Amino acid sequence: MKCHLSKLKEEFVACEGDTNPALGHPIEFICLDLKDPAICKYCGLRYVQNHHH
Ligand SMILES: [Zn+2]
Repeated sequence: MKCHLSKLKEEFVACEGDTNPALGHPIEFICLDLKDPAICKYCGLRYVQNHHH
């Protein structure tokens, strides 16, 4: 399982998972929470808001 920590400017992120569409991962738009990491329900990648240090 890959894990990405994306640098994000927006409050939404589109997770496409793996580049292989055969894995059945649709484009999932994830609303980022300011406090807690958002986890893609398809591939489990975690995304965090990153513009408040
Ligand atoms: Zn995903």
